[in-house]
Amino acid sequence: MISFKHLALAVALACAAAPALHAQDGGQRPVPAKAADKAALQAAPEIATGYAEKSGWTASKFMVAAANPLATEAGYRMLKQGGSAIDAAIATQMVLTLVEPQSSGIGGGAFLLLFDGKKVHSYDGRETAPMAATERLFLDKDGKPVSRETGVVGGRSTGAPGVLRMLEMAHRKHGRLAWSKLFEPAIELAEKGFNVSPRLNALLRYDQRRLTRDPVAAAYFYDADGQPRPVGYLLKNPELAKVLHEVAQGGADVFYTGRVARDIAAKVAGHPTNPGLLTAADIASYRPRERDPVCSDYRKWRVCGAPPPSSGGIAIAEMLGILETTDIGAHRPVNGVPDAQAIHLFSEAGRLAYADRNRYVADTDFVPLPGNGIASLLDKRYLARRAALIGTQSMGSAQPGTPQGMQVAWGTDTAIDKPSTSHLVAVDGYGNALTMTTSVEDAFGSRQMVDGFMLNNQLTDFSFDALDANGPIANRVQPGKRPRSAMSPTLVFDKATGKLVLATGSPGGSTIINYVAKVLVGTLDWNLDVQQAISLPNFGSRNGPTELEAGRFPDAVVQQLKARGHEVRQFEQNSGLQGIQRVRRDGRDVWFGGADPRREGIVRGD
Ligand code: GLU
Repeated sequence: MISFKHLALAVALACAAAPALHAQDGGQRPVPAKAADKAALQAAPEIATGYAEKSGWTASKFMVAAANPLATEAGYRMLKQGGSAIDAAIATQMVLTLVEPQSSGIGGGAFLLLFDGKKVHSYDGRETAPMAATERLFLDKDGKPVSRETGVVGGRSTGAPGVLRMLEMAHRKHGRLAWSKLFEPAIELAEKGFNVSPRLNALLRYDQRRLTRDPVAAAYFYDADGQPRPVGYLLKNPELAKVLHEVAQGGADVFYTGRVARDIAAKVAGHPTNPGLLTAADIASYRPRERDPVCSDYRKWRVCGAPPPSSGGIAIAEMLGILETTDIGAHRPVNGVPDAQAIHLFSEAGRLAYADRNRYVADTDFVPLPGNGIASLLDKRYLARRAALIGTQSMGSAQPGTPQGMQVAWGTDTAIDKPSTSHLVAVDGYGNALTMTTSVEDAFGSRQMVDGFMLNNQLTDFSFDALDANGPIANRVQPGKRPRSAMSPTLVFDKATGKLVLATGSPGGSTIINYVAKVLVGTLDWNLDVQQAISLPNFGSRNGPTELEAGRFPDAVVQQLKARGHEVRQFEQNSGLQGIQRVRRDGRDVWFGGADPRREGIVRGD
């Protein structure tokens, strides 16, 4: 376990209400934290709410990890009843919709990777833009990008939700339990009520001004005086229970083609100051996709991630391909803190990968990648040329590369995705492993509540500008298109045996790529267990400054980085990593799970 003392991450109020943490075998030790500074809070709409050290969980048959104990419990219940990983994931997601409404839900989208023992399936449940949307969606009447607030809050930013149809598609192929059974835990909790968690309470407090402008959200999340439901308050959600009950009986179509779709469209169109374009027809025509995952070799492993419209799989593969040419493995953290050289190599690799991602990656159903697509960006010779740009001093900011066969140049994306979102992982007793990142985008999405759940603001992941001096921006708004994501559900296999060694992923906006890459380097190169790798301080670069998690790095490391030309920014880096790893114990393979100390997640398994 890391011994370097965690210093300041959370808002004081959340610390006052120290998380009611559920110690299992690994257990958790809440660590007091000081108030975060204001700038850090603004940088992360889903604010930090505490840090509770965790030491990991072990199980031999099956396991599930999610960002909230009630959600983990729902998945565990399914596994215990003979369910598969997808069964567990669906039950978990339904409870997350209820208990972690700030992060994900049936009003949002997701990316899911599932290994069925032979093949990796990649499911895309990303939201789509309304058919009436144009490149001008986020521009004002003078052609200037609207403010972030105007972009996010209201009807404008809501895309057609993808979660339920994607899960149904995956369940048809990989499910074992009846679809209706998977909704039981969430329906029960929604009807009988669940205790508001410290994190939900802190986020409600933080978001009071925006969220209370929606009368439906105001009445549900706040009392008559506008005060957020306190920690431990028994919150019931009969409207969500009704929707889940209908979907449990009638399938996802009930949501997509019936009353719920009409309610969503009416809410979006009816926003008093910022209406949107999403119609019931857009929702009815939503289709999830099964696509080829992005897989590449990294030393003795094969790493698979989500393909476009997520940029996560490509960017992580680029980072690893670049790091493969370095000796980052020789820079194992000491006392849980990576040294300046490790941070240098990792953040330079990040700069190079993010430069390509920012320029090239968008929904490939609309905009081609350069050259021969993914293969050109992940070509080892191309990545070796990129890696050769790393010197002893920081490059500051990287230019996008020119992969072989390049035919197109595009402008640079101006989308700023902000961290909310949730991640879950599951392995079952049948050889399946699953990793899924799921999101309503910003904290509480567009701050519009319908039928007991939050609507996403995922369209703000498009570039607000459509064009710059270099030409059209790949990730501009187009009708029916999916906004580019950074979500990075990841599976790692041992090349020699073909066995799954790790399933992981995280929320965190565009920083997701760095959070997940940190866990990969931590487990694969530094031989840490997945809990230790998750708990490592966060660090990296998104092709701007070198970003370090506040309060986690000694000053000497910061000074060494500065001396090497790094512009260092230290702020709250609120990841929500979850991971399950295959480990050898007493001569046999068992599962070891880890959950992010920065959030409320736990792992359960038998
Ligand atoms: N909307 C972001 C994406 O799709 C995720 C936001 C988050 O992690 O909070 O990449």
